[in-house]
Amino acid sequence: MLMGGLACESCGRPMASQADRAGGLADARYCAQCGDRRGQLRPFEAVLEALIVNDYMGRNGLDRGAAEIAARNALARQPAWRK
Ligand SMILES: [Zn+2]
Repeated sequence: MLMGGLACESCGRPMASQADRAGGLADARYCAQCGDRRGQLRPFEAVLEALIVNDYMGRNGLDRGAAEIAARNALARQPAWRK
């Protein structure tokens, strides 16, 4: 069953299960990487750094410079960070 808020509003990552959500909270708007254990959004620099290191460097194998550009672009498109 599909419900609203299936993707993290900060990084866009799909949150398939409740465990993917910040704090394991069913109504958290952010994933466990972007939110703290109360479901609150972490500071931009913390979210950016985690995305660079875990996702773009770790999973995608980019070097630091390319990973940072990709991470900043990805966050700029998300509701939590759109200006
Ligand atoms: Zn996220």
